[in-house]
Amino acid sequence: LNESVFASIDLGGTNIQCSLGHADGTILRTDSISTEAYRSPEDVLKRMSGLVLRLQEEVGVQATAAGIGVPGQVDFRTGNTKFCPNLPTNWRDVPASRLLEKELGYSVYLLNDVRMATLGELVFGHGQDYPTLVFFALGTGVGGGIVIDGILRLGPLGAAGEIGHLTIDPSGPICGCGNRGCLETLASGPAITAAGVRLLASGLAPRLNEITGGDVSGVSPRTMAQAAREGDTNVQDALLQSAQYLGIAAANMVTSIHPDAIVLGGGVAQIGDFLFETVRQTIHDRVGMFPPDNVVVVPSKLGQNAGTLGGIALAMKSGVLD
Ligand SMILES: [Zn+2]
Repeated sequence: LNESVFASIDLGGTNIQCSLGHADGTILRTDSISTEAYRSPEDVLKRMSGLVLRLQEEVGVQATAAGIGVPGQVDFRTGNTKFCPNLPTNWRDVPASRLLEKELGYSVYLLNDVRMATLGELVFGHGQDYPTLVFFALGTGVGGGIVIDGILRLGPLGAAGEIGHLTIDPSGPICGCGNRGCLETLASGPAITAAGVRLLASGLAPRLNEITGGDVSGVSPRTMAQAAREGDTNVQDALLQSAQYLGIAAANMVTSIHPDAIVLGGGVAQIGDFLFETVRQTIHDRVGMFPPDNVVVVPSKLGQNAGTLGGIALAMKSGVLD
């Protein structure tokens, strides 16, 4: 069984990436092609299976099963996609597993991409030390996943763990999900960037103005973090505000399930230690029913590889229940 090979696939809006790897997480080979997402789901899936078959041929192996991360809602049990708002054709009720199994000749399992990254963290990362954890993926959106006692919580629709859509401010900005004041509207990359653009355009961020040359397209969580470190107090306040909102969401999760760890991943998590410090402090300030001292707040152990390794774990059906 140690020699078995598994395929891990990430379906993104821009690229399809495929890796072949072993059960211990060793990756044999990775390659990607453009998604050409304007095509029909059937055509995209055909290109996907073509990529997997080519990789198998190049490495000279036959995979045993595949795990696929999808940018949207999927039904893990049927292997159908439900709704992918970031793909132009939306992929409503596409029997993706069945279509791919026909081409590949082995079992194919589907999961939301952030839940798949959480699975990677569970099986190959922090899950080894922290069997109950909450994963926040901080990027263009805020995704998440919840692991309870070593099992990824999917819920009946596979949508459990959408913690980017916890209500943080009841009268806050409108969210893509239809609700107001979701964490995603307050602490995602675009939300943080919007605050920076406003400060820049209002003449309230002199250092950010120098760093970006006054060009709003240069504003990002990363350049804002640099400006904050170098003395822009208004930018500091904006970043602190978003970090505190994230801290409130984390504190609510700590009160709800008392996890061993809060894991912060995604590009926005890399903006600095102050983010982790603020989340720790907010948990400390807002969890009053029990001492949260043993709940650690840590960066993802796998970083960019969480999704790839999650696909291997998914193909092995490790950490998920039917
Ligand atoms: Zn929302």
